[in-house]
Amino acid sequence: MTKILPANPAGIAESAATLALGGLVAFPTETVYGLGGDALSPAAVARIFAAKGRPAADPLIIHLADQADLPRVTGELSPQAALLARRLWPGPLTLVLPRGPAVPRSVSAGRETVAVRLPAHPVARALIAAAGTPVAAPSANRFGHTSPTSAAHVLADLGGRIDIVLDGGPATIGVESTVLDLSGPVPTLLRPGGVSLEQLRELLGEVALGGRAAGPGGQISPGLLDRHYAPESALHLCLGAPDACRVWLRERAAAQIAAGRRVGLLVPDEDAALLADLDADIEPLGPGDNPPAVAGRLYAALRALDARHPDIILARDLGESGIARAILDRLTRAAAGRVHRC
Ligand code: AMP
Ligand code: MG
Repeated sequence: MTKILPANPAGIAESAATLALGGLVAFPTETVYGLGGDALSPAAVARIFAAKGRPAADPLIIHLADQADLPRVTGELSPQAALLARRLWPGPLTLVLPRGPAVPRSVSAGRETVAVRLPAHPVARALIAAAGTPVAAPSANRFGHTSPTSAAHVLADLGGRIDIVLDGGPATIGVESTVLDLSGPVPTLLRPGGVSLEQLRELLGEVALGGRAAGPGGQISPGLLDRHYAPESALHLCLGAPDACRVWLRERAAAQIAAGRRVGLLVPDEDAALLADLDADIEPLGPGDNPPAVAGRLYAALRALDARHPDIILARDLGESGIARAILDRLTRAAAGRVHRC
């Protein structure tokens, strides 16, 4: 049985005690819900992989409550890492750093590096501090599913497989953290997220694009598999200027409807209004000129649409600046190659 606890002091204390004993607790962060276990316990780490059905080759992110705990998981910070830690932590930025000797190899899938983050969410921070140990926490979903942004999403995927879900309300940013690899000669963005490429370049100068951030031709880094964040229904993504995309969405949706297929539209509010006459299932994502709001709704909308089992889901991109780059990355992965340039 999985217990659902409110994120009050008693709920946090019970969750922390469960983590300290090697149990699994899903908890809210500002990005998405994480599935936490004691990062320094190989048995707890093994339970995380088992509960998610996550391949052992896909490394976990370690979450800390305080920078003072960094020596427990990594060596001395390089000047670049120290600068980012000072300016952007706590927050949605994960740094790939040299792995400290106390960290089990399984956490980082056998690599000499480890991914570390200080979440900004007060419940996450209180929980990790009370547990008294670094907490390994991938997103709290079954492997390959959409990341959870609410306690209900976590239960739908992991109910019965973990000890506790700490319910702290919806996650606000809505997409996973930015992952930046600082282990090589040039800082490399492996996954776009809540901290933007622009912010990183302002602080560091050169930042290379790696992993999926490099685009479809880029080298795949661990865990950044193409079919990830995938809905059950086939998602088709249109890339291009908003007007051209709207024409494509209308034509494509109309043709599918005429062929007797059920169409889901995952589109910004203004498109939802323009396409409202179609006999389609529309999930408005918020104003297209407000990508942070769209990021916040993206996964809940994707899950809601998917639960109604349309034959096809149509979506479009919102550009590449700021958090729109992360939205584009997640939609591209959900589309698993079904990308159309308009
Ligand atoms: P999740 O916690 O589910 O949001 O996914 C964590 C992701 O961070 C992994 O899938 C990897 O892409 C990335 N990551 C974690 N640790 C490392 C590492 N040591 N080196 C490179 N990427 C990593
Ligand atoms: Mg994940």
